[in-house]
Amino acid sequence: MAFELPALSYNYDALEPHIDARTMEIHHGKHHNGYTTKLNAAIADTPLADQSIEDILTNLDMNNKAVRNNGGGFFNHCLFWEMMSPNGGGLPTGKLAAAIDGEFGGFEEFKTAFANAAATQFGSGWAWLCAQKDGSVKVCATANQDNPLMPGIGCGGTPILGIDVWEHAYYLNYQNRRPDYINAFFNVIDWNKVGSLFEKEI
Ligand code: MN
Repeated sequence: MAFELPALSYNYDALEPHIDARTMEIHHGKHHNGYTTKLNAAIADTPLADQSIEDILTNLDMNNKAVRNNGGGFFNHCLFWEMMSPNGGGLPTGKLAAAIDGEFGGFEEFKTAFANAAATQFGSGWAWLCAQKDGSVKVCATANQDNPLMPGIGCGGTPILGIDVWEHAYYLNYQNRRPDYINAFFNVIDWNKVGSLFEKEI
């Protein structure tokens, strides 16, 4: 069964002024759509065609560039759209807030660590907050469309929050000001969603 580009639960302009409508339209309709189409082409008539995207990535042959790039791109963007909301921002609550406080000492310290991972990822990639099986959380970054589910990536855990720092994610509105985009991203994070992803993993 082929993977499908997921519909967004909000309009392209819903995240303005933090993320502009044109960027959203191109990012979802062109970039994510392209990863989806190329992933389907890469897995067609192979044993991967019947697997979930999580299983494909967890057991990935890292030398399979087509599936690594497009499977990663498909999964990463699905998560990205899901954990943003026009009603986002604010602070995490409950068990996730406790885990963040436990790991970083407080939300502001977490924000600094996450923003730093995103800002210092050289070139294209993602920064992540990952749930660990022991109930803790960690921040890391990956290059290109890699993600923490892939073998040997050095992040560990399951991604519950990710920021896309490819230039296609921000350049129309922010040009080279990646740190401004990262800061604005915090205004659209759906912490309820991230918190529920966390509680599923621990
Ligand atoms: Mn992207």
